[in-house]
Order: sequence, then C-alpha cells, then structure tokens
Amino acid sequence: MQRQGADKGRNRAAAAMLLTALALASGCQVPDGGPVAPPRVLTDRPAESAALPRQYRIMGWSVEKRPVMLQVFGDGEDVTFILAGIHGDESAGITLVRRLGDYLDRHANGVHGKTILLLPVANPDGQARVSRENARSVDLNRNFPADNRAVSPDSGRWALSEPETRVIHQIIREYRPKRVVSVHQPLGCVDYDGPAADLADRMAQACGLPVKQLGTRPGSLGSYSSQIRGIPIVTLELLDSDSGLSDEQLWARYGKALLVAIQ
Ligand SMILES: [Zn+2]
Repeated sequence: MQRQGADKGRNRAAAAMLLTALALASGCQVPDGGPVAPPRVLTDRPAESAALPRQYRIMGWSVEKRPVMLQVFGDGEDVTFILAGIHGDESAGITLVRRLGDYLDRHANGVHGKTILLLPVANPDGQARVSRENARSVDLNRNFPADNRAVSPDSGRWALSEPETRVIHQIIREYRPKRVVSVHQPLGCVDYDGPAADLADRMAQACGLPVKQLGTRPGSLGSYSSQIRGIPIVTLELLDSDSGLSDEQLWARYGKALLVAIQ
C-alpha cells in the first residue's frame, strides 16, 4: 500500500510537470504579426460534474504574457461567442460573463446542442492596469481587419497587430459562431451590427436597457464581425454604476439577457 501511495504521488507530480510543460509550450511565443499559437486544452472538469464539462483553453498570450483564456461549454453546432473586457477598465462585464460561466456549470441541460464560448477577460493587461487599452496603448476594438479601420495612434500599427486581437480573430475563425455578444460599459444600451436587430430587441427587453445604434466604429469587432464575417453581433453596454454591483446583483440585472442570446 505504501508503494502504491508513493507511485500515486509520483504520478501526480509527473502530471503536474506535464501540465506546466503544456502551459509553457502552448504558444508562449506569439510573435508580432504572426499567427496565434495552436490552442491546447489544459484542463477538463470531471465528466460527472456536468453534462457539458467546461474546458479552459489558453488561446494566446497578452503583450505582457498573461494568458488569454477561453471557456468552452458543449460541442453543439449552434455556437454563441460572448466576450467582455476588450476594454480593460470595464469591469462589470468581466464579472457578469464569469458569473454566466458559473450558471452554465449548474444548468448544463439548457445548452444541449450548443457550443458556448466565454472570453471574460479579452484584454488581461488592460484589466491589470485598469486601462481601456492594452499594454501597448492600443484600443483593441480599433485593431480588427475591417474595411473601415483607421490609422491612428491607438488603433495599432496594422490590423491584428496586437496578440489579444489575434486571439479573438482566431476564435471566430475556428468556431464560426452564429452570433457574438460583446459586453462593454458605460453607455447603458443594447447596440448591434449586422442582422441582429431581433436579438438586440429581445436582449433589451430582458434587461430593461434601450436599443440604440451607436454607429460603426472604425476597426471595431462589430465592424469586422458583421461586415467581413457576416456574423450578427450585439454590444451590451452596461451602466457606469454597474461597477459597484456584486456578481449576483449583476446576474439579477443582466443574466436573462445573456441567456436570451444563448437560447
Ligand atoms: Zn468598451
């Protein structure tokens, strides 16, 4: 028995070393302008904990080498991609999308036949710095290869010049979502690009915010997603005061709107 215990300990240590090696190998080098490294699945929840176990994938690394982590629920054909924190100082959306992940862990049956992709922190360096831009002072939401991309100091040296933008681009190319929801702050409305008017209406009804088309932003994810990829995208603009709410308060206010997008 003692020997078995020692073997188990060694196996656990070997597994931990393998996990560390995987983390180091999974695209630590993301050269400027180069492709995002192939994503790898690092961890799976035990199958018995949920019908649709959540997978965590490191899709790439930020300028300051923070992991950009995607959460994947299910493997159905109907794919919804929900992201937050592309502007790192918009904290309420990050909390809300994380809370959605906790909900999906406990309500796996509701997402049968679907794939739900959550990227709660699209700009981890911005989150750490409490800044809108990434660590190179680029607004990631102006760095996408849309026809209307403008050349300006905060839009990046070229389209997809930033590793965080390339991660989002890679997710859309790989999973081909049927709809995208990007959570922002603080304009307090539901905006949309592409054929998403109906979805925007239903999300607005679910959370009480008005539908407002704010206009196309150059090089934005909305422009890229709708114009280049033809994917409907809803921008859920939370309120400035939402930053003071707890995760449960945010969920009570906006959870239904996110579930409308999934269902
Ligand atoms: Zn924003």
